[in-house]
Amino acid sequence: MIRLYDTMAREKRAFEPINPARITMYVCGPTVYGRAHIGNARPAVVFDTLARLIRHEFGEKSLVYARNVTDVDEKIIASAEKEGVDPSVITERYERHYLEDMGALGVAPPDIAPHATREIAPMVAMIERLIETGHAYEAEGHVLFSVPSDPDYGVLSRRDREQMIAGARVEVAPYKRDPADFVLWKPSADGVIGWDSPWGRGRPGWHIECSAMIRAHLGETIDIHGGGLDLIFPHHENEIAQSRCAHGGAPLARFWVHNGFVDMGTEKMSKSLGNIITPEALLAQGHRGETLRLALLSAHYRSPLPWTDALIEQSKTILDRLYRAAGDALAGEIDVEVAEALSDDLNTPAALARLQAIEDPAVLKASAGLLGLLSDTADAWFRSGADEAAVEARIAERAAAKQARDFATADRIRDELRADGIVLEDGPGGTTWRRG
Ligand SMILES: [Zn+2]
Repeated sequence: MIRLYDTMAREKRAFEPINPARITMYVCGPTVYGRAHIGNARPAVVFDTLARLIRHEFGEKSLVYARNVTDVDEKIIASAEKEGVDPSVITERYERHYLEDMGALGVAPPDIAPHATREIAPMVAMIERLIETGHAYEAEGHVLFSVPSDPDYGVLSRRDREQMIAGARVEVAPYKRDPADFVLWKPSADGVIGWDSPWGRGRPGWHIECSAMIRAHLGETIDIHGGGLDLIFPHHENEIAQSRCAHGGAPLARFWVHNGFVDMGTEKMSKSLGNIITPEALLAQGHRGETLRLALLSAHYRSPLPWTDALIEQSKTILDRLYRAAGDALAGEIDVEVAEALSDDLNTPAALARLQAIEDPAVLKASAGLLGLLSDTADAWFRSGADEAAVEARIAERAAAKQARDFATADRIRDELRADGIVLEDGPGGTTWRRG
């Protein structure tokens, strides 16, 4: 029995899907205009782990997991203008990078990855429905959702009206009937990406994208809706309002599951704060994807996760130990205690602690697999570890040569490593390396 903490109910509840043969899960995916950072990777890894657990409990084909790609957005338009390219050049590039980076962390692609730009028709249809039912109105080429038309608005975040208006940092616009109203459709100027609609040429707001794509691919009411804590308000609140009002009151999701932030020092890791670390950079430093995955799973998903070098080192040490214990065993049965820990609201710290106590290599291999770990053979894991140690040894040798003013040897070592695909970078703190 899986139990999940439901943000709507503010408690852990038994997870009983509507249809155990077709469990539906939707997670708000990336806006593709830049490289993902470790904070962005956390929901990808958390919901990938939840997907593995659901498939283990209900059957391999039981789950339909959808994660959208936001490929029309103000930041994308701004990046495209800056580079002087079509927005699709930006979105295709960063979607590819996102899939590479998450793939390196052992995140399987979702079953469905709807793209906003390919789903304009269902969005327009939903907006039309909201206008017909008195929940939305057109004003100066915009269509806005009328927040006062929905008496249940605020049900997820439990904010009062003043907090909602402050929290949404809503734009005050003369065409809004109420300051809390939010955009469903907005006009596009000439030369800006847009589509024809009953309200003129324009583009969708962000919130309507998820509501319309959930309806189109998964149905009116889904089992699990996931995302980061920062999406509770206004994004998920708005999704709920749109979907419920368009579907005669049917709830959008039966479970709302939210992951906490990755912190740098005392602050949330975020692009706007400029304190981000990317999987790309960490992988280039020689850390392996599985090490980063274990680090991301080391805290309970609802807790903040402080990101430190020590955490990465510790995760690597645990993996070395697990690989040593598993050897080249093939996966056997999954350990009951590991499955139970994960079934208790995805208690990954407890599952990881239990993994380290399992003695049977085949059971260890299978149980680690439930967390997306030990996907390599022990041989491959330690071989690439040895490569890293060898690189470090060569760097030390080069430093010694430089110290002795033997620059010919230092340069030769650099060139030999370069030929092996290892790029050295000399900085004030010493030499670092990356694969390139
Ligand atoms: Zn969403």
